[in-house]
Amino acid sequence: MLASIKSRLIVWFLLISSAVFAGLGFTVYFELKGIVTGAVDSHLHSEVQLMAGLIRLEGSEFHAELSEVAVGDYSVPLSGHYYQVVLEGGRVLARSPSLSIAGVSLPLAAPAARALPQPAYRTMTGPDKKALRLHEESFEIGGKTVTVQAAETLADAYAILASFRYILIASVAAVFLISAAVIFFVTNFSLRVLGVFTGQIERITEKNLNERLGVINLATELKPLALSFNTMLERLEASFERQRRFLSDASHELRTPTTVVKSYCDVTLRRARTPADYREALEKISRTAGRMAAIIEKILAAARLESQIFSMKFGDVGLRSVMEDVVRLLRDFAGSHSIALTLALEGEDSIVSGDRERLTEVFTNIVDNAIRYNRPGGRVDVETAVEGGWAKVTVIDTGSGIPEGDTGKIFERFYRSDETRARVAGSGLGLSIARTIVEAHGGRVSVESAVGRGSTFTVLLPRK
Ligand code: ADP
Repeated sequence: MLASIKSRLIVWFLLISSAVFAGLGFTVYFELKGIVTGAVDSHLHSEVQLMAGLIRLEGSEFHAELSEVAVGDYSVPLSGHYYQVVLEGGRVLARSPSLSIAGVSLPLAAPAARALPQPAYRTMTGPDKKALRLHEESFEIGGKTVTVQAAETLADAYAILASFRYILIASVAAVFLISAAVIFFVTNFSLRVLGVFTGQIERITEKNLNERLGVINLATELKPLALSFNTMLERLEASFERQRRFLSDASHELRTPTTVVKSYCDVTLRRARTPADYREALEKISRTAGRMAAIIEKILAAARLESQIFSMKFGDVGLRSVMEDVVRLLRDFAGSHSIALTLALEGEDSIVSGDRERLTEVFTNIVDNAIRYNRPGGRVDVETAVEGGWAKVTVIDTGSGIPEGDTGKIFERFYRSDETRARVAGSGLGLSIARTIVEAHGGRVSVESAVGRGSTFTVLLPRK
């Protein structure tokens, strides 16, 4: 039940407010009780002082002139207002008519009316079986002890306290119920927008990923949620778009060689051929199929990269040794193209945080291109250097160069310049894979080129 924000709010509010109200209620109640009893006590005290002043000793006899006092409530039997004057030895000198008529007496605090060291106040059950407040004080008159008692019922005070208790309980209950209802409605109202949210989210599928959640008029607390969700949608949309484009580009790339194979077959089968013709046709088909296989291989590699880009194994990688591996790997290939491949390692080694295998793939691709798009007798010079916080690798070739308008496009998937498309086999995926890997390492790759003179590829990776 407490899984919902609404019930948590209500339960917490009720728990806290009940603790506060209970504490407050008890404090006020006991304060009030103290005040009421205090008022009764001070009245009893002045009554006792008044009566003590009216007691005289004539000879050896005590006289109490209490006729003026013995009126009003003191004269009504069991009215709850009593007094009593007791002499040493327990003889009652005088008592209020309310006691004498009822034939009862007030109990003494000390037996036989010994002098009380201190005036005493007690709450007890009175003759009328109701709570009674009794004040008792001893006085020295003519060397003898006279104890004066005055009592007053607490029934009225308790009645006031009881009504206060009822009012307190009733108002706390009312506050409880009203607050719970208010919280319920306010949270219901505020959280309704979450329902609208859910509705909007439920409507979003892969077909309308361009839709966004409305953030205008949204509660401040919910805005970050909506904005994060929108950012996530943006990323998803971009990723879906990339996948869609990749699929259509891949099918487009494969369509040409498939058509070529199909037309070789159709043309060859149109009439009877000599074994030499069949051989030639099969060789062409085999070459095209080989190209297709290479393209499919790259497509698979690119697709794999998409899913692996977030699970690359990062570690400390020394760039020098990576470049040494790449050059060793491609030395024979360069030789077969009559290209001189050199490696110059300037300054200190650069350690980067990266996936060694993937970084090797990046540089293999770039150096491989520099060899393939070169001229016989040309050069490929690989250099490593440090530039501020960056590790820099440059691959300089003396190849065909890239037309100015194409330098921005060669990193796009499946892009191949018209000139190389006719001359050199390839998939147009190598550089796009390279750029994805470099960017996943927080780096940049760029190219400068002059047609006919050659190109310089530069890779910058953040140093550790
Ligand atoms: P592929 O080499 O399989 O065609 P890439 O993505 O590696 O795919 O390269 C894309 C295109 O960029 C190549 O087809 C080529 O036109 C151009 N290119 C890449 N490297 C060079 C280079 N060193 N010199 C000239 N052109 C290049």
